[in-house]
Amino acid sequence: MNELLTTIEIDVPFPKPPEVLSEEQKHLHVANIKQLLVQHNAVLIAHYYTDPEIQALAEETGGFVGDSLEMAKFGAKHPADTIIIAGVKFMGETAKILSPEKRILMPTLEATCSLDLGCPIEPFSAFCDQHPDREVVVYANTSAAVKARADWVVTSSIAVDVLEHLAEQGKKIIWGPDKHLGRYIQQKTGADMLLWQGACIVHDEFKYQGLQNAIKMYPKAAVLVHPESPEKVVALADFVGSTSQLIKAANELPHKQMIVATDKGIFYKMQQKAPDKELIIAPTAGEGATCRSCAHCPWMKMNALQVLSEVFDGDDKEIFVDPHLAEKAMIPLQKMVNFASDIQASVNSNI
Ligand code: SF4
Repeated sequence: MNELLTTIEIDVPFPKPPEVLSEEQKHLHVANIKQLLVQHNAVLIAHYYTDPEIQALAEETGGFVGDSLEMAKFGAKHPADTIIIAGVKFMGETAKILSPEKRILMPTLEATCSLDLGCPIEPFSAFCDQHPDREVVVYANTSAAVKARADWVVTSSIAVDVLEHLAEQGKKIIWGPDKHLGRYIQQKTGADMLLWQGACIVHDEFKYQGLQNAIKMYPKAAVLVHPESPEKVVALADFVGSTSQLIKAANELPHKQMIVATDKGIFYKMQQKAPDKELIIAPTAGEGATCRSCAHCPWMKMNALQVLSEVFDGDDKEIFVDPHLAEKAMIPLQKMVNFASDIQASVNSNI
């Protein structure tokens, strides 16, 4: 069974893109941020979808670039007192939940996510209450309150494994918030899932027709697709996977060209890992497309150098999570971390 819920309308205007900086301005900001990080014993951790200069700065200063869970795990292990999360708000919250004793700052707390916005705690919790026989599994792209309501939190890299495990146990599932990822997992695992109808505004705009045209134009290219994309787009993929899995695939697949359907911020790390490959962004334009995101998340883009330069100014950049909520959210997060460790241990024992 795979029932659908009604869509929650998101009525939030997109943020204005930050001002474009000259090379000289960029150099000045980079030098300033490097100095501030040392001065405040802070480490910069960036998501794959931030702009290339932010990812480069994280790497140059001993920080980290990764997906949301890898970011939080790196922060928890790092000795710095202060962690700067360049990403969107739920990532800062996850870092705070895993490192409650540390100060978590973000360049702007206004950087949000359409999946988080599309899954407010009250209606989601009410829906869960109507189905007490179902395990609640939520994607990492949710608020701390939604995580606290869940039995499991998963990232896209481990979602299929967790749902397979639950399906084998005969569990029935409520899945939220991404409808495309939920449908993909449901098809892969055969799990009995009720799907919340959220969507990522970036992946939702990759178009079947446009991708087909790109495939005609580059017939030897491999097509790499993130499972937050629509079903017909996923159906055209040679490889479907999370951000980290797509980067690995770009390196390992024999093709010289890759058409990539995910946020183009990923090209920084993908090109680094696969320097001899030509990366082509999957088209977002096509019949019915609005191209509101043009393959780059407007909220990720808010993490600009000039905003990062001011991260230690004022007191409105710090992430706080209610300790009671954090304690509850930690339970499903920890389940995922343990599940991932068990998988890794079983892989190692089979080597
Ligand atoms: S790219 Fe999509 S899923 Fe990621 S933060 Fe932006 S809106 Fe959310």
